[in-house]
Amino acid sequence: MDSESDKLLAADEPAVFTVEREQGNSPFLITVDHGGRRLPRRLGKLGLSDSELQRHIAWDIGASGLSHRLAHVLDAWTIHQTYSRLVIDCNRDPAVETSIVTVSESTEIPGNKNLSAAERKARADEILWPYHRRIVAALDARKAAGRPTVLIAMHSFTPVFKGLQRPWHVGVLYNRDPRFAHIMKSLFEAEGDLVVGDNEPYAVGDASDYTIPIHGERRGLPHVEFEIRQDLIAEEAGQRAWADRLARLLPQAYARLSDNRTTTARTLS
Ligand SMILES: [Zn+2]
Repeated sequence: MDSESDKLLAADEPAVFTVEREQGNSPFLITVDHGGRRLPRRLGKLGLSDSELQRHIAWDIGASGLSHRLAHVLDAWTIHQTYSRLVIDCNRDPAVETSIVTVSESTEIPGNKNLSAAERKARADEILWPYHRRIVAALDARKAAGRPTVLIAMHSFTPVFKGLQRPWHVGVLYNRDPRFAHIMKSLFEAEGDLVVGDNEPYAVGDASDYTIPIHGERRGLPHVEFEIRQDLIAEEAGQRAWADRLARLLPQAYARLSDNRTTTARTLS
């Protein structure tokens, strides 16, 4: 096979990421790994109907709309993935089984079956890696400028999964470093109107995540992965309400994190 015929994206197709508020003044850097639901033209519809491609299996409904508003309210550097998680999951190491799913929830994905090594590699090389290189470049630039960063990985979850109703409005997810997630959990709980998941409906892990383990934990940056229930942010009004809520709580959480650090430094000295 020659390299031209292996190419997944044509020159006129959209870039794999959208960047907002580059160099924004906020300490928060927001990533939206599952924000988009576009498919490369070459893949057709992956053998799925239009209605399947609008479901949560294709993307995190509402996550990009919410993050777009939040980026503007906070003036926060935000990076959105353009292409559907069904092409390749941008929150997975491409070496893991669930990187390119053949079944999502209960739906078979015909266009993901029996892929060649070259086809898998093209999806990683053209969609996953450029997105993560862009995040690395943003984090490196902030570090070089001596700017603090709290990494926010924004996701949304379906209210009903495999027939089970999920009670949480929002989940805070983490693995090795719970500091920022636990501060956000207590702030959400103090709101009085939220059922808050602590590593629910998912937990961060090295096999089930990429963004937090690699860009947050490995760099020693404070971080949290949010999962917000999709029915709350599917429409513009909900996105606006949640962006306002997060724009109010995130700076409080950042102040608490800084207080805790100062206290720790004083105790140690
Ligand atoms: Zn997600």
